Formats: sequence, structure tokens, C-alpha cells
Amino acid sequence: VGQQGVPAATAQSIAAALAGTAVAIPAHIGYDEYVAGGGYALLGDCVAGARSGESLIAALEHAGLRGLGGAGFPAGRKWRIVKAEAGPRLMAVNLDEGEPGTFKDRAYLERDPHRFLEGMLLAAWVVGIRDIYVYVRDEYHDARALLGTELARLQAAAPVPDLPTIHLRRGAGAYICGEESAMIESIEGKRGMPRLRPPYVAQVGLFGRPTLEHNFETLYWVRDIVERGPEWFAGQGRHGRKGLRSFSVSGRVREPGVKLAPAGITVRELIAEYCGGMADGHSLYGYLPGGASGGILPAALGDVPLDFDTLQPHGCFIGSAAVIVLSQHDSAVAAARNTMRFFRDESCGQCTPCRVGTAKALQLIEAPRWDTALLGELGQVMRDASICGLGQAAPNPVDCVIRYFPQEIA
Ligand code: SF4
Repeated sequence: VGQQGVPAATAQSIAAALAGTAVAIPAHIGYDEYVAGGGYALLGDCVAGARSGESLIAALEHAGLRGLGGAGFPAGRKWRIVKAEAGPRLMAVNLDEGEPGTFKDRAYLERDPHRFLEGMLLAAWVVGIRDIYVYVRDEYHDARALLGTELARLQAAAPVPDLPTIHLRRGAGAYICGEESAMIESIEGKRGMPRLRPPYVAQVGLFGRPTLEHNFETLYWVRDIVERGPEWFAGQGRHGRKGLRSFSVSGRVREPGVKLAPAGITVRELIAEYCGGMADGHSLYGYLPGGASGGILPAALGDVPLDFDTLQPHGCFIGSAAVIVLSQHDSAVAAARNTMRFFRDESCGQCTPCRVGTAKALQLIEAPRWDTALLGELGQVMRDASICGLGQAAPNPVDCVIRYFPQEIA
């Protein structure tokens, strides 16, 4: 047994396996190609004083860019809040992407990493940040290798003088470390457990400093919004909504994948226009609009616009826009059991309503007959008294089964 408590034989076999494993760098737009396409010109203009930080914030505000990790907080307002705090300020970028069904960040990172890096550097320039921490999901081996390579190229080429220091941090497979304050704890080297708020991360975040925390995709759009103009982004919505959303679509559709579509598109439109329709032999039965946390809706609600704020009346939310499509061959009860098992396993255990609540809820929904009154009461306690979104959202799929799929539990 070595210092890490790993049996020697296991350690040897892991080392042997790793020795034979080549990490593949995905085909992507590299530094030179990105610069040839006008990349880092905007950052150069900003640093040279040709543009003001205020003009960039105004562009984000007019575009209506919101946090695309799931919280939906307006990006421009966040920049203002952190900028108003006394320095030194830090940035933490969330590339943990652990919500089941979500894979958009990885897709963009593997295709065009510098578009994200330029957005990140623009944010750092506007807000006045010298140190940036990028927290990458452990499971994204290839994407992490790619980011390391392209970061090294960026630092060697130094398109602008005096780049901030960029620290790459690797997660260790915990879903809860995608929660912003748990991620910060993890970057600090502690066990990833969400913090009580206030104080908010924007005021007291990483290492006790004001911190601009962003999801990868939010930063990915900054350059395009500023260069093409905020109207380009804001003018893309549908059904009264504004902007673009990257939907990670999986399940019973003909062509699953990352679909860049207008905010407010309905699931029926998304499937028909972007996914080649339902898979052969399948018809729409229901869908999870926001991964494991966002609840489950029936086909009868397939015409609800998908965006921040539009799904709350139905007891759901879009989160990181992971749309999982179910057909007549699936069951909402099975999906609810699966998600609750996931939440029970991934609960950090810090607070009782979540730690005990998820285990108790799973026990109740694994029974052949559901005690809906008790489940309703338990769900309310979890929502009211859990510290973070995991415990607060865990009852969503169960509530949805009771509300929309009563035939499955009759
Ligand atoms: Fe941890 Fe769950 Fe409490 Fe969040 S709600 S702090 S995951 S125990």
C-alpha cells in the first residue's frame, strides 16, 4: 500500500494502462488559424485603448447575455458588480459540465478554444483581473490536453502585453463541484462543499477575494457579441424570447448533438428543425428540459418556449439546456428513479434535508406504490431547507411524475 492508500498491484496496473494511453488532441481551430481569422484583434483594440470596458459591458447588456451554465444571471451586470469591488479580484471559470445530458461546453472547447480564451481575457481586462482559474472536468481528458496546449501557444505568442496568469485546475469527478461555491472550495484545495450565501462569490469568493465566476459558454459568446453587435445575438430569439441557446439534445431523436438554436424554441420545433425528427419507431412521450435537475414534462407541454423563466410555471427549468427526449418506450418513473439515485450519490452530505432527503425519496419512489402525500411533504422540506441547488432541485422529477404522469403510478 503506497502513501495514497492505493494497493501496489493496482497502482502498477494503472500506471501500465496509462503508459499505453495516448491522449488525443481533437481537431480544432488552433492559435494561428484563430488569429488569421481576426482572433485577438478585439482584445488588442481594448488593451490599446480603442474601446472602453463600459462599451463591452453595454454590449453584453443589450445582447441580453445571461449565465449559460444554468443560473442565467445577466453577464454584464455581473461584470459591473465584481468591478465595483476593491481589488485584487479573481476569475474562476467553470468547465466542470457535470449536469447529466450536458455536453455543449466540451463541443465548443474541442472546436474553437481560443474564442473562449479571448472572451475570458476580455472579461479579465474589463473587470481588472490578474489571476484566472479554469476548472476543467476530470473526465474531459482530451479537451483538457487541448486547452493546455492552446494555452501554452497563447502565452508564448502573447498577442497583447502583460497577459493575466491563467491557472488550469482539474476536477475529480464530483457533480457538486459544478456549483460555483463548491468549485471555489475545490480550487482552494478543500473538499467541494457549497458555501452558505451571503456573502456572494462576487464579493467574497476564491481565496476570500471578489470573484468573477463564469460558465465556459458565457465567455465563448463575448467576442461575437461585441464584434457582430448586440443586435445580432438579441435578434435571434423565438416566441418573444431573445438570444441563442446551445441545446445538448440526447435521447430518442434521429440526430442528437449540440444544437445552436433560438432561445424560446419549443421542444417540438427543436426536434423537427434541428434533430431530423424523432428516431424511427418513436414518438414524443416526454422530455427533460434541463438535465437531471430541470424536471420532466409530458408531450402535451411540447409547445412551451424553452428558455430561462418560461418553465417555472410548469415546475421545471432549462438550466444548462440539456434536453433529453423520451418516447413511448421510456417511462417517467424510471427517469425519476434514475435522477434521484444520481442526486443521492452526488449529495455532498453537508445538510440533512438533502443528504437524508434524497435517500428517503429514492426509497419511496422505488416502492411499487408511491406515497404521494409524503413525497410532496418531503420535497417541500428539501426545497425550503437545502443549502444549494442540488437538494432544492432533486424533488423536481418526482413532482413532475406525480403532476404529469399519474397513469404511471396509479
Ligand atoms: Fe450538499 Fe445537498 Fe446540502 Fe447542497 S443541498 S450543500 S449538495 S447536502
